[in-house]
Amino acid sequence: MSDIINLLPDSVANQIAAGEVIQRPASVVKELMENSIDAGAKFIQVVIKDGGTTLIQVIDDGVGMSETDARMCFERHATSKIKNPEDLFMLQTKGFRGEALPSVASVAQVELRTRKADDSLGTFIEVAGSRVFKQERQQISQGTNIQVKNLFFNVPARRRFLKAASTEMSHIRNEFLRIVLVHPAIRFALYDGDIELFNLPETSLKGRVDHVFGATSSRLKMDQQLLPIDINTDIVKISGFVGRPEFARKRANQYFFVNNRYMRHPYFHKAVMLAYERMLKQEEYPNYFIYLEVDTNEIDVNVHPSKTEIKFENEQVIFSILQAAVKETLGKFQVMPAIDFDTEGAPDIPHISSKQIVMPPEVSFNADYNPFKSTSSASSVAPKPKQSDYNWEKLYQNFSSHSTEKNQIEAMRDESKEETKTLAFDEESVVLFQVKNRYIISETERGLMFIDQYRAHFRILFDRYMIVIQNQQGVSQKVLFPETLNLNEMEDAIFEEILPELRWAGFDIEKTDRNNYIINGVPTDLSPSMGLVVLRELIDEMDNEVLRVKVLLQEKIAIVIARKFAIQRGKRLTNEEMSSLYRDLFACENHQHSPDGKRIIYQLSNEELGQRFD
Ligand code: ADP
Ligand code: MG
Repeated sequence: MSDIINLLPDSVANQIAAGEVIQRPASVVKELMENSIDAGAKFIQVVIKDGGTTLIQVIDDGVGMSETDARMCFERHATSKIKNPEDLFMLQTKGFRGEALPSVASVAQVELRTRKADDSLGTFIEVAGSRVFKQERQQISQGTNIQVKNLFFNVPARRRFLKAASTEMSHIRNEFLRIVLVHPAIRFALYDGDIELFNLPETSLKGRVDHVFGATSSRLKMDQQLLPIDINTDIVKISGFVGRPEFARKRANQYFFVNNRYMRHPYFHKAVMLAYERMLKQEEYPNYFIYLEVDTNEIDVNVHPSKTEIKFENEQVIFSILQAAVKETLGKFQVMPAIDFDTEGAPDIPHISSKQIVMPPEVSFNADYNPFKSTSSASSVAPKPKQSDYNWEKLYQNFSSHSTEKNQIEAMRDESKEETKTLAFDEESVVLFQVKNRYIISETERGLMFIDQYRAHFRILFDRYMIVIQNQQGVSQKVLFPETLNLNEMEDAIFEEILPELRWAGFDIEKTDRNNYIINGVPTDLSPSMGLVVLRELIDEMDNEVLRVKVLLQEKIAIVIARKFAIQRGKRLTNEEMSSLYRDLFACENHQHSPDGKRIIYQLSNEELGQRFD
């Protein structure tokens, strides 16, 4: 029998690699910008046409390439950045696999113009689908100018897969921002056709954040919205900015970077959100731009170039340090007016010697701080930040065996169990009152218990919907008059991503044509007229972070449905309704807090009650 194994031709291998490296125009933009940065450019211009589907052009003033290099750079595994295996561990550059340009050239028409400072003539090369069509010496300004035209021209299936130009442009914009936010010393410009979207001068990090977001988003200067964060431990150095809680919005700018690279990190995101606990209004999120620096041994460097997930060695420790750092910043600045944080001192954190084992940094903040709590300010003067009253011992216990987060959740559960014990009631005999059509009151062994009816029901429904969605067993009720949902391109892209989860929740949705959907059924117990409202709300509130993390997405859907369907305040409840609410609430694992972290139950102890009469 003859042998059947062949080596793939390079052009095929490149196309396969392209499938991984080049997902959409934004991936090309990222690779080209990173090459320009690696080439030491001081000014990088990015020109996009039609969402990058017809043209992506990146012009830099970096070192440029020799004639041989210009030809070589389209070869697979051709890189100037590593020569031997040890180099892999010392990498300072963005790329190193020599995969990007050959991949791009295998699925697009590429024109490269490049010249090194010392050469009198530069090189022009035209490549398409991995074949070189032209190569000549030309007058070219120093640096590299690369044009990528008609991406996926030879892979129709992938070209069809591209979204509307506006959607691709917004991906490009995101990618562009992730890069410019770590290179404030480089000047960048981004053009959408003839329109200049960004022209960012060389500046400091703070200046860059300010230029990027101050210009586009806010009524106020970023200065007044952001607080500096700065902590230096042996394991991690954390710097950057976090938003004041009062500037939290439905759509926030949230960025993590590690060693000058953008990363997504849902776990660290949680650490930040925990630091804001109870400072935010419902469904509002703070801005943050957080830069981590860790030893390169501490993270997995061998990650895929297009991936933004990063594995950390000391994830749990960093989680706690990050949470504390953010908390400290929020506590420290809470009573101060907006200041220019260039001049204000950084938090007072002692340097930890490398000999010592990791000890929690000293922090000062008021753990009880809650800007939305009006009761405390009425009776006392403005709260002063307390010194180091955070229970670090508890936080750092059992580091090796448990995650901190898990400990916290367990602690919360224990707390709940404890409460349940003391709240144990005889279902038959419990007497419930409703006051102000808003609270349910009952007597317990310990005293009086007030339950917020809306939050209680919100919790019950949320838990229920989470189970339904996760088990994909939502039951749908047909609506009599199906409604249509018309979406724009941007919304359509979002909607398509959440469609499976919506179906799991019990929505019966049919796509009729481009951007149009018919809602034939809604989850049982949601009123048919609410279906459209809930879907609209979901689309409006979906942000990138949520879309990428399945659990967050499911939570979000459950939250929106539960919130809409929950008994509102002001509704008179029958005795039966009260009892079933009461019973269902205590069947919830976390019956103390609503899904958005608000208190559901308030207890007035017998002692307190007694004191009132003294
Ligand atoms: P990698 O960045 O992983 O080395 P690429 O395919 O992105 O692989 O680039 C291949 C090589 O081409 C780089 O190593 C570099 O030497 C050269 N190169 C690419 N872009 C530029 C540029 N803008 N300026 C100078 N050299 C470049
Ligand atoms: Mg590269």
